[in-house]
Amino acid sequence: MSKREIDIEFLKKLALFVYESISPIIGTKEAAKKIKRGAGGDISMHIDIMAEKIIINELKKNNINIMLISEEVGELIIGDKEIVKKNEEKLIVDPIDGSNNSIRDIPFFCVSIAYAKGSEINDVDKAVILNLKTKDIYWAEKGKGAFFNEEKIIRSENSSLDKLIFEIDLKLSEAAENFKKFSSVLNKIYRIRVMGCVALSFCLFAKGCIDGYINLKERMRVVDIAAAFLIVKESGGLIFSRGGEDLNISLSMESIPPLIACRPNLKHLIKKELKKIHSLE
Ligand SMILES: [Mg+2]
Repeated sequence: MSKREIDIEFLKKLALFVYESISPIIGTKEAAKKIKRGAGGDISMHIDIMAEKIIINELKKNNINIMLISEEVGELIIGDKEIVKKNEEKLIVDPIDGSNNSIRDIPFFCVSIAYAKGSEINDVDKAVILNLKTKDIYWAEKGKGAFFNEEKIIRSENSSLDKLIFEIDLKLSEAAENFKKFSSVLNKIYRIRVMGCVALSFCLFAKGCIDGYINLKERMRVVDIAAAFLIVKESGGLIFSRGGEDLNISLSMESIPPLIACRPNLKHLIKKELKKIHSLE
């Protein structure tokens, strides 16, 4: 690629480069080779490092000046320091979300890329999430809507409160305790899913395949949700804190409080139950 600005087509191309380079090693021992602890806190595997390198190389090749915030390297200035400081452009990347799925060939893992000009999650204005197994792509631009491949996502709101399907994200060691603590919320749900790739789960939520997402962990990371955040917002879904407040999250490697996502018509119900739980703490 020759020098170009970061538009949505460039972000899609970056994601496709990752797809092409890691496809041959999906499900292999080579992919799973443990390398070191990444900036996000998890052990980085060969496949994570490989995907991240592809992105860094493409940015450098295109003479792009940007602050990269990525799961393995953390915060890295690409290009000219002074320009990066001045222009406030950031790329927030999870090279592979769902790495454990990728090394076992469970077809639910992705690359997540968000572009922001500014320092808050609300400044993200372009986002791409590519399923690295199926090649399905979810993307959004602020004010223009969210898309699944070439089609605009038009959510058909299920107004019924029956048969709600939610993704629940939890630490296995705290599952019993959390199920007990959050039982009043969980009792409203018909089925739960734990799919191991937050970014893609948010995309399924954006499309209306699932009705919401609740994170029962103590913390989560911006790299997992920066792109998904815009895709959900542009699809008309809601994301808020476990306390029910709007999010004001800084774009950095610092961990963030856990999030809830749900259809607009469920917010009141979920907020009310969570409030009760928190008042008992
Ligand atoms: Mg990752």
